[in-house]
Amino acid sequence: MESGFLLRRKGKIHYLTIPPFDKTGIVDHCFTTRLGGVSEGVYSQLNLGFKRGDDQQKVLKNYELICSAIGINYKDLVCSDQIHGDKVYVATEKDKGKGIVRESDIIGVDALITNKPGVPLITYYADCVPIFILDPVKKAIGLCHAGWRGTVQKIGQKTILKMEQVFETRPSDCLVGIGPSIGQCCYEVDAPVIARLKESFSNWREMVIEKSEGKWNLDLWKANKYQLEEIGVVESNITVSGLCTSCRNDLFYSYRKEKGVTGSLAAIIQLKKYNK
Ligand SMILES: [Zn+2]
Repeated sequence: MESGFLLRRKGKIHYLTIPPFDKTGIVDHCFTTRLGGVSEGVYSQLNLGFKRGDDQQKVLKNYELICSAIGINYKDLVCSDQIHGDKVYVATEKDKGKGIVRESDIIGVDALITNKPGVPLITYYADCVPIFILDPVKKAIGLCHAGWRGTVQKIGQKTILKMEQVFETRPSDCLVGIGPSIGQCCYEVDAPVIARLKESFSNWREMVIEKSEGKWNLDLWKANKYQLEEIGVVESNITVSGLCTSCRNDLFYSYRKEKGVTGSLAAIIQLKKYNK
């Protein structure tokens, strides 16, 4: 598999990590695959979505499996509640377990950030772009969910700018991972999406291939990478997985490929509890 991310295996569980993140030694993290869980049928196997119609007990079991594989207590997870918006939430100890073991008041949030060790964050995917952020200097982390709407609202950029404001993060210090999502190969969009893209990016033409009259294939990885470089993230600090969720339906859930009936993948990250 050719990818900037590394495919790892623990027992039956398969997941991806970002090598430059691994190297820092200060985070536990992964992007999940569909392999190794207990869900069945269209949700097979490692579905992490509670709202997709799957058996709730099986979903919880999947949380337990993937989190124990990467050294996280799943009962501590802070869950996003994604609406394709651009709201960034600063998570702390008081948020642990929200959306998992207790009710959540984190509503309409597509990005989570924290600088608290032992506060694991989780965001959900089935084609949209996962963005992992790690500031190894100020020791802060972030996750954001960028579909085309989040991408044109520049949620990736806004997440790092929020980290700058709250944690004094410098964009040039940040390591970024752009995870598996629908690739340009499979992501056809029409004029309304292109109109929004034009509003946000003067160089939008570099992000699309025109396929036919009124149809373009959009490169969300490029659009997200570009907006991060715009605020000073260093190109060599950005790792792109290069994996398309639709092409690799064997490894991932894909909302488009499976016509909306499928499970959820997740991005998970925490600052290790005992940092030097
Ligand atoms: Zn593809």
